[in-house]
Amino acid sequence: MPFMQTSLSYFLTGIILLCPCSVYAIEPIPIVVTLPVLKSLTEKVGGRHVAVSSLITGLESEHTYTPRPSDVIAIKNARMLVKIGLGLETWIDSLIKNADRPNLLTITTSRDAPLIKGDPHIWLDPEIAKIITHHIVEGLSQLDPVRQEEYKNNETAFSLALDQLTAEMIEKVKGIQNPRIITHHLAWPYFAKRFGFIISGGIQTQVGSEPSAKRMVTLSQLMRREKISVILSEPQLNPKMPQILAEETGARVVILSPMPVAHTHTEDYLDFIRYNVETLVRALQK
Ligand SMILES: [Zn+2]
Repeated sequence: MPFMQTSLSYFLTGIILLCPCSVYAIEPIPIVVTLPVLKSLTEKVGGRHVAVSSLITGLESEHTYTPRPSDVIAIKNARMLVKIGLGLETWIDSLIKNADRPNLLTITTSRDAPLIKGDPHIWLDPEIAKIITHHIVEGLSQLDPVRQEEYKNNETAFSLALDQLTAEMIEKVKGIQNPRIITHHLAWPYFAKRFGFIISGGIQTQVGSEPSAKRMVTLSQLMRREKISVILSEPQLNPKMPQILAEETGARVVILSPMPVAHTHTEDYLDFIRYNVETLVRALQK
């Protein structure tokens, strides 16, 4: 009988390896995400059962990204695509088309998220990161139902870690006398609302637009009136306008990224949120 058992197990292994629709994944599931923040969130719940690659590295603008040929290959090989939606990834549909994957399981993680009108940067609120993560868990459970419990348990653990971090960060912001800031890019309303910063105005009124001279005067008057000492800019943006405004008003420019990876040791979502809150708090305390 040992011979029979061996051939039977070979036979079964063969089925599992050959069948692309297998319910029990042996290899990590290849997943493509649009933004590095989605890579971190997918890894939080998928652990070693997922192999995630992000199309955007974190150094480009998420609004004006130009896909590379390797992105098409990544989508060709993926079993799931995770995106934000809300019109943020304007470049994704043509990629899916070029990769000839019309039936690729695509998870739109902004579904059911409470939105701030006109702002797609939902991941900067840890409460919404929970919603994003929940959609990812649903996708993983569909692909790999055998591990459904494990994914759900990871989601619960991550959710608790988010609660702890958020409470700790809100406490830090409460200690600031004047939490008002000016932002360069319209990316921070979710972040500000969650942690208690106040955005008094923005340099860009639309993504990618440069402000008029009139707007710069209005902003510098506003900054003096409200005693705003911090302008929040980003590594992905041209530093010229924030610098002019800082020189004009005596404020300082703080560079933070709305996406992980731009700063060292921020690949992990929890580290990323902590870094952004703590850096801004330090600048506002000076
Ligand atoms: Zn943006």
